[in-house]
Amino acid sequence: MHYVSTRAASAAESQAPQQFSDILLGGLAPDGGLYLPSEYPQVTGSELDAWRKLPYADLAFEILRKFATDIPDADLKALTARTYTAAVYRNAREGEAASDITPLRVLEQDGDKTLILQALSNGPTLAFKDMAMQLLGNLFEYTLAKNNAELNIFGATSGDTGSAAEYAMRGKKGIRVFMLSPHKKMSAFQTAQMFSLQDPNIFNIAVEGVFDDCQDMVKAVSNDLDFKARQKIGTVNSINWARVVAQVVYYFRGYLAATTSNDQKVSFTVPSGNFGNICAGHIARMMGLPIDKLVVATNENNVLDEFFRTGVYRVRKASETYHTSSPSMDISKASNFERFVYDLVGRDANRVRALFQKVETDGGFDLSGKPGSDGDEFRLVANYGFVSGCSNHANRLDTIREVLDDYGITIDTHTADGIKVAREHIAPGVPMIVLETALAAKFNETILEAVGMDVERPAGFEDIESLPQKFIVMPPDVAKMKGYIAEHTGL
Ligand SMILES: *Cc1c(COP(=O)(O)O)cnc(C)c1O
Repeated sequence: MHYVSTRAASAAESQAPQQFSDILLGGLAPDGGLYLPSEYPQVTGSELDAWRKLPYADLAFEILRKFATDIPDADLKALTARTYTAAVYRNAREGEAASDITPLRVLEQDGDKTLILQALSNGPTLAFKDMAMQLLGNLFEYTLAKNNAELNIFGATSGDTGSAAEYAMRGKKGIRVFMLSPHKKMSAFQTAQMFSLQDPNIFNIAVEGVFDDCQDMVKAVSNDLDFKARQKIGTVNSINWARVVAQVVYYFRGYLAATTSNDQKVSFTVPSGNFGNICAGHIARMMGLPIDKLVVATNENNVLDEFFRTGVYRVRKASETYHTSSPSMDISKASNFERFVYDLVGRDANRVRALFQKVETDGGFDLSGKPGSDGDEFRLVANYGFVSGCSNHANRLDTIREVLDDYGITIDTHTADGIKVAREHIAPGVPMIVLETALAAKFNETILEAVGMDVERPAGFEDIESLPQKFIVMPPDVAKMKGYIAEHTGL
């Protein structure tokens, strides 16, 4: 199995074939594209049958070994066994088995209409990003040790990604994490989650500014190629291929748990922002998993919903990006979307390069096929199962209330976006699985607004705000930042 860039030039010019381990620690391909396998591995009916009985870690091994062909089976099996344990995914609800890792709960079975919730947020930071990031931590440590190398992860966060990265990398040999966040701008819960980590390889830096100031500092450091190389700087953003492929596993798991035979289909609804989560669903479907619909659910930041309704992809300016009560979906452009577009345009890298150059110059592209558009591939979208919908703050409040009234569980705001849109696309005879991307405890303010009650926190999180915190405060000063990194890496 080897990997190609979505913007690879002609075969003659393109770089040497990349293996899984070659692209594991990197982000974008050198040509600015994203990596994808040269072809999707296929899954047979007898494999699916055999996988029905497997524990999550073993299923993860079976799927990952199709992509990470350069990692010996025994090593990969040990890595998945260490990652997907009931101890790591211990925040399951009452009535759910933590050992299921992503337990399913049937919310509604009304005639032949079935609505199911698949919990992806039972990991250490109570959000689905743990599903991939926990594996990434173990994969990074394994690969770095093999090459006698080290890595300094440098990033900016306004919440979920930074804490998932820190909980995945804490205590890992050969890895340090330098994470910027806007000083006093995150919720008390999110701040406490990150800053209470005392591990010597985790460095929390509260920047006196807003999130954009943090991101500008990351860009400035990343653009200094000498510094980046000398300090062995890397990132863990959502375009990382290993993160996407780790997410493929739970689509298989959801399908296998919701069906009894391979001639059945299911649909998935995915609360979406950067298109990372649902991109994994697309890949599962391309591998042959019997998925009927992939439903993209967005909030008021409806870049993706607009594309899947009209064929027009129009990224938003910062001033047009809303701060909503499902903040992890507040994106202005969807960084993983290029992977789907590559397949949609028949894996024509020249087209992809031209389209995404147009995003840079004109703010988007149009595949609707209308006069003056950039192509007509929107007509093919249905072949890939994609449909979409969006919701707003009032919809979230209503949905949180209804789900509590009807089924007795409290869902978070992102999952509420999912349920609202799922209901618009549920079809007879095809179970609809909604991916639960966070636990409600992370978004107590909105839950309180919706149902007038605080959310009960999972065990161990009751007093998280009162734990001692380790962080430093810094002005948005790139030179200072570089000095701080160098001082702590000793490189
Ligand atoms: C990151 C995140 C999302 C969006 O996922 P994408 O992969 O960016 O589409 C949705 N919900 C929650 C809770 C998240 O943390």
